[in-house]
Amino acid sequence: PFDVLIVGGGPAGAAAAVYAARKGIRTGIASERFGGQVLDTLGIENFISVKETEGPKFALALEEHVRHYDVDIMNLQRAKALRPGALVEVELESGATLKAKTVILTTGARWRNINVPGEQELKNKGVAYCPHCDGPLYKGKRVAVIGGGNSGVEAAIDLAGIVRHVTLIEFDTKLRADEVLQRKLRSLPNVEVIVNAQTTAITGTDKVDGLTVRDRAGGEEKRVELEGVFVQIGLVPNTEWLKGTLELSRHGEIVVDAKGQTSVPNVFAAGDCTTVPFKQIVIAAGDGAKAALAAFDHLIRN
Ligand code: FAD
Repeated sequence: PFDVLIVGGGPAGAAAAVYAARKGIRTGIASERFGGQVLDTLGIENFISVKETEGPKFALALEEHVRHYDVDIMNLQRAKALRPGALVEVELESGATLKAKTVILTTGARWRNINVPGEQELKNKGVAYCPHCDGPLYKGKRVAVIGGGNSGVEAAIDLAGIVRHVTLIEFDTKLRADEVLQRKLRSLPNVEVIVNAQTTAITGTDKVDGLTVRDRAGGEEKRVELEGVFVQIGLVPNTEWLKGTLELSRHGEIVVDAKGQTSVPNVFAAGDCTTVPFKQIVIAAGDGAKAALAAFDHLIRN
């Protein structure tokens, strides 16, 4: 069996693998797509000490760093079940079962898409999902934020300080964000809020030039001209396969303590798939390192 088996090969999983392997213990990492979300990222400018890089380049560097150590890398492997025990079992979709004394879950998350024409075609060309990541690219420009929950309203407030104008679009008849956020939002001069509105398309040829939105009461459609669209309708953790096995938050995040311990003995978790606040590369990587050290600490005590 593995001493540490990591499920997921994004920044959190890669960091956990490097930290575990450097303890000289038997380490494996199984992932569906090594690199994770950074494979879909164009530019990265906030991984401290790397002024700027590209997602695929960063993903390759993650893999190179892991390969430098004695780590059993199992690519294109999707886990479908976790069985707790003194030896934890991870069942893969290929039919194989892996056994380990400790498991670190780092299966990440995915942004919920609005699924309108233009969204897929214009991803990274004006369609964005992360204001902390891409906000500065829209300095002085006009953007829309789709979604009036906490994350949408936070994004609108954040972006209003950087961009020229923000249009916040909410499907429901009112915003769902906390009142204190709504109050802050209403105090900003360069934000317009449109409620009861359905985004019907994001337009543009090589880059976003606008969107169309339909008034759900009257039915008329209007066009908003802008350079960027931030979709903020939810980040979904890749934890469907764990339902019923360990404690998840109501958003489906794996509940972890300060050391990454989950509700199941010998099972740790790190990064975007967990309750750890703020989903960013540098945070996921730090979190993966922390979970590996916690797993090691657990191994030497048991
Ligand atoms: P992920 O990167 O999501 O990796 C999850 C891993 O688990 C993948 O290898 C996946 O294939 C695997 N996996 C999932 N389910 C299973 C399963 N059942 N079995 C096996 N493997 C599985 N953050 C920044 O800090 N700066 C940025 O500029 C930035 N830009 C972004 C741009 C885009 C378009 C996106 C989508 C995200 C961006 N982020 C950015 C966020 C950042 O990418 C994430 O916070 C980070 O990748 C999270 O790392 P993670 O290891 O927790 O999960």
